[in-house]
Amino acid sequence: MPMRKVEWTPSVTEGEARTGCLSIVRVDEQGNHIDRIKKIDTPCFFLGSRAGAPPNFTVDIWNEFKKKCNAVQIEAETISQFGRGIHDFIAVGEKQNNFRPRGKPEATGEERLTETAIYLSFRDPLNYNSICNVDGLAVSNDAFSFVVRQRGKMKLTTHQGVKLLKDLDGDLIESISMDVPYHVTSKKMRRSVDVSIHILDKILESNTGNVLGVIQGGSDERSRTVSAKETAKRNVCGFVLGSFGLGEDLSQQSQMIRWILPHIPAEKVRFIPGIGTPLQILEAVSLGCDVFNSDYPHLIGEYGQAIIFSTDASVDRPYKINLRDRKFQLDQEPILKGCTCYGCQNHTRAYVCHLLATHEMLANVLLSVHNCWHYLEFFREMRESIGRGGFNRFKETFLERYYSKAEE
Ligand SMILES: [Zn+2]
Repeated sequence: MPMRKVEWTPSVTEGEARTGCLSIVRVDEQGNHIDRIKKIDTPCFFLGSRAGAPPNFTVDIWNEFKKKCNAVQIEAETISQFGRGIHDFIAVGEKQNNFRPRGKPEATGEERLTETAIYLSFRDPLNYNSICNVDGLAVSNDAFSFVVRQRGKMKLTTHQGVKLLKDLDGDLIESISMDVPYHVTSKKMRRSVDVSIHILDKILESNTGNVLGVIQGGSDERSRTVSAKETAKRNVCGFVLGSFGLGEDLSQQSQMIRWILPHIPAEKVRFIPGIGTPLQILEAVSLGCDVFNSDYPHLIGEYGQAIIFSTDASVDRPYKINLRDRKFQLDQEPILKGCTCYGCQNHTRAYVCHLLATHEMLANVLLSVHNCWHYLEFFREMRESIGRGGFNRFKETFLERYYSKAEE
């Protein structure tokens, strides 16, 4: 039976910043390549999900997004209720008629490469800062409790958690680990490392090829170093830098990344969930991080705001606009002139302003669509800047223009 394997191929580097291609390939039981079924250019942004689907997206809109970023993070516990494996799940499943017109044959060859890569984790990305809410693990009896925001705590044994990840059959599997906020005791940080390595070993007993090891250890340099070295010894396809976006400031964030990266091999992909603003992302990319995932573009939309920043120094635009402002009520321009998203192609600022004033949920839909689209454009421009050796200039220009203006 074919199995999935994840590979990352570097392309261009500028300083520590790098571009590359993340591939999901199918291999036979001997490990021989059968074919490549998905590919994603990095640095990239994986859209997050809420209860199994990107929030506010219709199926048609998601299909449009897949041309730009064919990757989504799904939280494992939600899908576990579904019971039929993640690729059949209604909101992302490629086999669903929702996505593939009745009678249309399954995708093959190049067409498959644009299908959604599913990154499976125990993070609830659009709730509570992407934290991996595993706590209370008793290594002796192999059980941990997992906090589900909507339903309180649920308890799983490690065996159940491992089986769940295997049965759901994601393209990329993030090992279960224990996130710790920036300000906890050193003892708890060390414990987060032990717990995370312990579960990783259990997961690797039955999954190979597509497991991402999570590096924990909070803000303790020694714990981070131990975690990075121990995780790197194991048969993982890449790394997740855990416990980011949990109270640290930008310099602390950079410091923690610098503690980790020298101890993990450069030829494997590096995920960093919880890093969301352009400022944080530019910094993390400049240090060598590849894949991001946060609720930032959705969150901005929930406040009635549209991000419209420009990375072109010759174009003068604010970082974002607040469409609740009544000054937009007669504005017949799209949210952002020239943007190719569904919202900007079909509606005006005045319409979104009206929808917000009347509390119509379509406002959130259009703002989520625009903000996520604009964010994916930002990543495309960032990749191009690395490709032409202009990332440092790109970063500096952006920070000069927006760092003091953006309310981050
Ligand atoms: Zn737009």
